[in-house]
Amino acid sequence: MLFEDNSGPRLVGIARLAAQSETLEVKRSVEYFELETRSFLGRCSGQRMPFVWTVNPYRGCEFGCKYCYARYAHEFMELRDPDDFERKVYAKRFHPAAFREELKKIKPGEPICIGTATDPYQPAERRFRITRHILEVLARESGLDFGITTKSDLVARDCELLAAAARRNIVGVHLTITTLDAELARAIEPRAPQPDLRLGAVKKLADAGIRVAVLAHPIMPLINDSEESLDALCKAAAEAGAQAFSAAPVFLKPCAQKVFFPFLESNFPHLVRRYRERFEASPFLRGHYPEMLRERVHKIRDRHQLRRREDRPPPEWPIDPQFELFPANR
Ligand code: SF4
Repeated sequence: MLFEDNSGPRLVGIARLAAQSETLEVKRSVEYFELETRSFLGRCSGQRMPFVWTVNPYRGCEFGCKYCYARYAHEFMELRDPDDFERKVYAKRFHPAAFREELKKIKPGEPICIGTATDPYQPAERRFRITRHILEVLARESGLDFGITTKSDLVARDCELLAAAARRNIVGVHLTITTLDAELARAIEPRAPQPDLRLGAVKKLADAGIRVAVLAHPIMPLINDSEESLDALCKAAAEAGAQAFSAAPVFLKPCAQKVFFPFLESNFPHLVRRYRERFEASPFLRGHYPEMLRERVHKIRDRHQLRRREDRPPPEWPIDPQFELFPANR
């Protein structure tokens, strides 16, 4: 947000904090900054989301997916070039004690999702380990219900920590995989790990007893929505040990259209007109298409005997009542 006074333009709120952020590292074409934040837990305003609380350790995301809807968040920091979202990544400064205090406001049965706006295991995590620090706090809690959504096989680094947390909390990991086609994945998610690496992470986590879902989000009409492609993906997810599989149609808000339409022009020029007609009228697909996709995915999921992401079994913790790696905090 920008307003003028006699001394020239002044930035306020998150834009001011972003402008004052200390540069931590410049890596390739990506700049890293550290950002002070008042709170790590955000309350989800969406009524239909399967979680109440959100945690996003980073602002911006280096993976640079062409359909990414989170680019709007950089606009709050007066960073309006769509590429800034993937080139200026802000690592939030983490204070474990303050985070523990924040957790006290969560009521029983209110799920937390880590990674709703940006990927918590993007390359910055190798350097800053903020997601890991968050898990170290959560693993000492009990009775929480939390999940992680990521496109990165780096999540498998924290396998033991997640397994420890799952002994006293409900824990789920959601690996987003939109296609098994490596070339297509490289085009639409240019810097995200390849699909085979993500499936490897599914296997490692599932073998450690962690509940894993594969999310084919988003499904883009005539790009990755064929029955054959979704069936192959669901089959691979089941073979890797995933328990659930889901798919959802793409939505393209204006901030995403700025990147997605040029991508279509270069890679799928024959689809440009149809996408523009649909998404310039509304960012969401309605009517026949979502219905058709729902039925297609339902059939495929049944074929491979996977659940929907929402159909979670009752909590199994404590797996081991004697488990005392960490003392319980609640
Ligand atoms: S991984 Fe998620 S947050 Fe990152 S660019 Fe892709 S869609 Fe956006």
